[in-house]
Amino acid sequence: MKHFLIVGGGIAGTSLAFHLLERACTVTLVDAGYNHSSLIAAGQINPLVFRRMTKSWRVDEFLPYARAWYEKLEEESGTNIIIDKIIRRMFAHEQEKQEWINKQDLPEFTEYLNHLTETDLNFEEAINICGSGRVKQSFYVHSERFLKAMKTIISNHKNGCWKDEKIDFGDLNPANTSCNGKPYDGIIFCTGFENDVNPYFQLLKVEKTKGEVLTISSDMYDEESLNRKCFVLPNSDGQFRIGSNYEWNAKNVETSEQVKKLILENLQSLVPNEFEVLDHVAGIRPTVKDRRPLMGEHPDIPGFYAFNGLGAKGYMMAPLLGKEMVEFILDGKELDREVDLTRCISK
Ligand SMILES: Cc1cc2nc3c(=O)[nH]c(=O)nc-3n(C[C@H](O)[C@H](O)[C@H](O)COP(=O)(O)OP(=O)(O)OC[C@H]3O[C@@H](n4cnc5c(N)ncnc54)[C@H](O)[C@@H]3O)c2cc1C
Repeated sequence: MKHFLIVGGGIAGTSLAFHLLERACTVTLVDAGYNHSSLIAAGQINPLVFRRMTKSWRVDEFLPYARAWYEKLEEESGTNIIIDKIIRRMFAHEQEKQEWINKQDLPEFTEYLNHLTETDLNFEEAINICGSGRVKQSFYVHSERFLKAMKTIISNHKNGCWKDEKIDFGDLNPANTSCNGKPYDGIIFCTGFENDVNPYFQLLKVEKTKGEVLTISSDMYDEESLNRKCFVLPNSDGQFRIGSNYEWNAKNVETSEQVKKLILENLQSLVPNEFEVLDHVAGIRPTVKDRRPLMGEHPDIPGFYAFNGLGAKGYMMAPLLGKEMVEFILDGKELDREVDLTRCISK
């Protein structure tokens, strides 16, 4: 039976572990307990890119697989992970509304765009500039519950083991794919934004894109997730998560008062209700210049792999990409050319 060591227990590492266990492999997952991405994430599954009103990359494959996978995890863990709050895009300007109207009947968009109705155009629960549209099939993953459920599933699996530890890269030996003298059939690095301290994959440029999220309490509209300049995610008991910003080349995971002010201004331009700020956190998206993940085997070290660069859409992409990574490792099946890490190796 093949035994793999996975470094990192965010959405990338846990999806990979799950799919390896499904293929009857033994998995040891080691996580430093320092998660500043998968845990902070809003976990929204949004098939659209609002900025350009286009479909998200490979959404027709990623979305159905992700939905079915999270449903399977809910069943296995007895935890409610999927929250069915669809996204309502409050249009920022006429052009955006017009783009929606132009696309709502195109065959490639009918799965994702609801036809605009009078209620959408006159929506009154938010500050309405020129109407709104509801995104079909959107939902969000409760990130905290998800990560807890994954830890339990992996730890309880007869071939799974979860260790709350930090891997010291000096303990790895690339000559025989071992860690602390124990050999593995492969070591897979799913370390997110902390890739630059990994001497084996420093050759990949994973950029650090910081985003901050506020938790507020308010009596505002909570039946859908609102979006314009910021997202408003109804949590429970009158609580909402509000975010986020994009700070490129972040140097730390500290929160900033300036960003808090910006997020609250964006919120107030969307909903007029009173609120109280309860919490403020920061996270870092592991981002790649060309906005595609980084997956594959080290070009010079057989048995060392990376699964990273999930950017701003890890919760939508990682379920299917985890399966594809396993097929690459176990079956030699070619990865999608767009994710192949060799494209990004600095010369
Ligand atoms: C503010 C914000 C909002 C977001 N919203 C969304 C959203 O709505 N929808 C969506 O799909 N995505 C969203 N994302 C993006 C998503 O969070 C990322 O794509 C995803 O979390 C990346 O997952 P990862 O597993 O690659 O990295 P991480 O979640 O960072 O996991 C890496 C893990 O590696 C571990 N690690 C690192 N080094 C070591 C070591 N040496 N030894 C042991 N363990 C180690 C860390 O402890 C960490 O747990 C958001 C991100 C942010 C910051």
